[in-house]
Parts: sequence; structure tokens; C-alpha cells
Amino acid sequence: MSTAITAYVGLGSNLEQPRRQVERAVVRLDLLADCRVQAVSSLYRNPALQAPGVPAQPDFINAVAALETRLGPLALLDALLGIEAAQHRRRDGVRWGPRTLDLDLLLYGQMQVEEPRLQVPHPELARRPFVVHPLLEIAPGVRLPGAGALADAAAALGVDALERVGAVAGFEHRSLQEPA
Ligand code: AMP
Repeated sequence: MSTAITAYVGLGSNLEQPRRQVERAVVRLDLLADCRVQAVSSLYRNPALQAPGVPAQPDFINAVAALETRLGPLALLDALLGIEAAQHRRRDGVRWGPRTLDLDLLLYGQMQVEEPRLQVPHPELARRPFVVHPLLEIAPGVRLPGAGALADAAAALGVDALERVGAVAGFEHRSLQEPA
């Protein structure tokens, strides 16, 4: 069996009880074969991006989870897509509605992956305050492979719009320092 790796997963939802969607997804991550949730950040409320021509959207709830996993990166991506699919809702009989859950594989140890369907580190990681700040909360010393400490990259990012709104029930006491 392969070695355990710590991967970081970004979670976000802005539809159909977003907080519950994120909490359910954390439980599903913990139940994946060969995976265990080591730590979860606080839940953060984050206003949806406003742009000309983009209809107003509800606020997002975002969090980041550290996952000890023996799955390879593509197998882990497939597992994340499976959780997304399990939490999608058909809005009507014709088309799929907006997604209720977005899961991103942010980091997979210090591995760099450049596959057609998987780029790790996630290309947007260091540009998104709603990813960077929850990630630093649970892993303040985390490094981006080939790019140094995330804390340095984060210094330039604003935090103004992020609001902590609580913890994921049942996971408050897990931390990366905790023995497995
Ligand atoms: P989206 O849900 O719009 O962010 O895009 C999902 C697709 O992005 C997935 O089907 C993946 O194939 C692709 N993808 C590429 N890199 C990543 C990553 N690091 N994490 C999650 N999805 C990724």
C-alpha cells in the first residue's frame, strides 16, 4: 500500500443550506476509503464575486480540510467529484441546476501534477482569500511546491470580506498536530 500523504481540499457552497452542504462534505471526506480528515478550518462566509453581467448570488460558505490519504492524486480527484455528484441537486427535469458544492484539490503533499484533468497545486489557490486564509488557519507553515511559504503569498491578499461563522460540528478538535 502507498504511503500516506496530507492533501488539502477546498470546500465551497452557496446553494441549498451552504453550511450543511460543507459539513456533509467533510463527513463524506472522512468516510472515503483510505482517507481520514486530520483537521478542518473554521467555516467562512464570503460574498460572491460581483462582476458586470453576472447575476447576484448568495454568499458562499468556504472551508479547507486536511486529509490524510493513501489515494493517488487522480483517484482522490475522482473521489472528490463523486462527493460533488452526491450533493448536486436536479433543479428541474431538463437541466442540472447550479452546483451546491465545489471541491478543489489544493495541495497533494509537495507533489506537482500537470494532467489534462488535474493541476496541483490548484492554479487559483494563492489568488483566493477564501482559500488561502482557511488553509493558513489549519496549516500556518504550509509551502507551495516550488513557490515558497503560502504565508508570504498571502500577505498581499485582503481578508476584509471574510467572516468566520463557526466550526464544522464533530471536527473541532482535530488538528494536524494530533497523533493519527
Ligand atoms: P470546477 O468544478 O469548475 O472547478 O472544475 C472541475 C474540473 O476541474 C474537474 O473535473 C477537474 O478535472 C478539473 N481540475 C483541474 N485541477 C483541479 C484541482 N486541483 N481540483 C479540482 N478539480 C480540478
